[in-house]
Amino acid sequence: MRAAEILKTYFGYDSFRDGQEDIIQSILSGEDALAIMPTGAGKSICYQVPALLLPGITLVISPLISLMQDQVKSLNEAGIHAAFINSSLTETQIAKAMRFAMEGRYKIIYVAPERLESAGFMQLAHTGKISMVTVDEAHCISQWGQDFRPSYLKIVEFIDRLPERPVVSAFTATATREVRADIECILKLQNPQVVVTGFDRENLYYSVEHISGKRKDDYVLDYIQKHKDESGIVYCATRKNVDNLCGKLSQSGVSVTRYHAGIDNDTRKKNQDDFIYDKVQIVVATNAFGMGIDKSNVRFVLHYNMPQSMENYYQEAGRAGRDGESAQCILLFSAQDVMINRFLLEKKEFEGMSLDDIELVRQRDIHRLQVMEGYCKSTTCLRNYILEYFGEKAVTPCDNCGNCHKEYEEQDMTADAKWVINCIAEMKGRYGLNIVIGTLLGANRARLKEIGAAAYKSYGVLGNKSETDIRLLIDQMLSEGYIVQTGGEYSVLQMGDIRRLRDENARVIVRKAQEREEIVNRSKKKRTDPLTSAGYNLFERLRHLRLIIAKEEAMPPYIIFSDKTLIDMCAKAPGNQAEMLAVSGVGENKFNKYGERFLAEIAAFLSENPDAATSTPVDDDEPAAAPVVRKGRKEAFYLNREDTERFSYAEYYYISEIKDQLNLISSAFNVKKVTIAAIWEYLVAAGLTAEQQGPEGYTKVQTERGRQLGIKTIDKVSQGGFAYQLLMYPEAVQKMVVEYFVGPRDV
Ligand code: ADP
Ligand code: ZN
Repeated sequence: MRAAEILKTYFGYDSFRDGQEDIIQSILSGEDALAIMPTGAGKSICYQVPALLLPGITLVISPLISLMQDQVKSLNEAGIHAAFINSSLTETQIAKAMRFAMEGRYKIIYVAPERLESAGFMQLAHTGKISMVTVDEAHCISQWGQDFRPSYLKIVEFIDRLPERPVVSAFTATATREVRADIECILKLQNPQVVVTGFDRENLYYSVEHISGKRKDDYVLDYIQKHKDESGIVYCATRKNVDNLCGKLSQSGVSVTRYHAGIDNDTRKKNQDDFIYDKVQIVVATNAFGMGIDKSNVRFVLHYNMPQSMENYYQEAGRAGRDGESAQCILLFSAQDVMINRFLLEKKEFEGMSLDDIELVRQRDIHRLQVMEGYCKSTTCLRNYILEYFGEKAVTPCDNCGNCHKEYEEQDMTADAKWVINCIAEMKGRYGLNIVIGTLLGANRARLKEIGAAAYKSYGVLGNKSETDIRLLIDQMLSEGYIVQTGGEYSVLQMGDIRRLRDENARVIVRKAQEREEIVNRSKKKRTDPLTSAGYNLFERLRHLRLIIAKEEAMPPYIIFSDKTLIDMCAKAPGNQAEMLAVSGVGENKFNKYGERFLAEIAAFLSENPDAATSTPVDDDEPAAAPVVRKGRKEAFYLNREDTERFSYAEYYYISEIKDQLNLISSAFNVKKVTIAAIWEYLVAAGLTAEQQGPEGYTKVQTERGRQLGIKTIDKVSQGGFAYQLLMYPEAVQKMVVEYFVGPRDV
């Protein structure tokens, strides 16, 4: 069998993703390989497919028990014989697994690095033929990484002692140069084929919300309630935060569990399983949670606090949307997070390292924290910030992140800042944030009366400001160090270093995001978008069936079929085996186990809803789902006249928002989705916009006529200092575009 056939037969996928084939080919030709791919890019396929083609056993070294168990379950589900050997098994179980391995019953064996030293294992290595050693999470071998594991150093000794050197392949999602060099060098890779795939995860939407204190709880609760049947993770910086937040959410009726290192092992395992098996919707956790969690249908990752580094953030946020469907990563930032993290870094312990090394690591830690803070305060494209940090060149803004959907307005609040200082001085630093704000606002609250706030000179001086503005101001002052907030339960605001403020040129600038939330919400792509409402009903039924099967098999639902596979199944509505095998993610083994039940459910649904079309056509760049009614090629996009009433006009839209709206409202059957290019072509043809040749290539501009109609440009600066402009289209132009697409038209 060839690699592509294996991919189809066992995993049910039609084609390889970026980078997968290169890795597989080099392994098959006997060369070492190093793959640096972001979470969710599909690393496992890169060693699982060649493992089936190589003559002997593939040993996969993996740091985490839960990861191994999950992978082995998935493999066996796909009809591939695999096992794991680690400390979660009893001695008898291990002996049995070893015997089977010796007999050549497994193609793939997962082991913990510690295991490699055991005598039994060495024997296996000499008797059974080992064709490949795969090192998963290979960055654990590097001291410069954040997850250094001394036991990883044993891998090299193990390989050296083998009678014949197998192919060695290494995988990681950490891309920094030091770590990469360490992996190549310490693992002694021989002329490895190095594949670095793009770090961009297009399906993830990033945003940062500046929110402090208790209001974070409200935000999280509100968010979860708006995403009721979606699975999500909420990360907190401390165990205490986890416990508090989890308690509050649970009191409000959210289906939630928690995870951190202070919970005993059994409970922790149970909580994790509840989440993985979709028994609870949400897990609130510290960063102890998630390494090795393969759950593919996590739809959002909220960060209640800012993490310590972009590496951490990207890894944690990356647990969303592993199935490739759209997902959201939202970070709730307050200035206090920076202090919590500084404190946590100070407490960090270093074992077995020289003082010089400790100092170096500390400096790097601080630097990483600053970069992270930069992300939270950035006002330009967040995706580009991430990509630039991980060494990728990015120039155009993504139009799919919070900052691309926001406009920032700068306010000079220097005078107000001085009042904040006065107020804190009058209070002698005895009170917390809420009292300070209440006093400045001149609020009429019992607690303020109690402390006699009305007698302060600062009482009510900022009465003309909104509470939000004052909070933003205080946040800004905290991060500039003018004031400080004490830790602990009764945190109070105190004077910081205000010398700089005395300089008459000193300015306190507060950046305020102008929320364009209605637009953002409307334009957000939903994963079930290709489905009609009938299709969505079918999706719900198939999900239910999946849950029943998952319970019968004691298996996490996403291992049976991923959400993405179910959506494709609904879109294609297969009527027989061949059609079912054409669904992405349905391989032969899974078809044999579950195919008939899903076919029966679909047939039942279609007979109850005889006229239902389950999908509208999807983007051309995503050929996964063919329309249900099998009807030749799709026509060009058009709107029916009555669709135009559903377009919700706004004062200004980006072109991408117009595109999303159009696709949302079209009731035309069997048409392609409209693309930004098609809209742009119209705007140019109508003489409203043009492409202008400049020193850096083409730029998009409005024509004089376009300007008269109200098309405007807004200036943005990317993190790398690159200035760019985005065009925005007023209602009048939106109407013209809508009118233009009323069809049906010839191409
Ligand atoms: P990683 O280990 O890189 O984080 P995984 O190996 O867990 O990622 O893969 C992420 C998801 O992508 C899995 O659900 C996997 O089945 C799916 N996947 C991998 N390769 C392909 C492919 N070629 N086509 C479609 N889906 C794929
Ligand atoms: Zn962006």
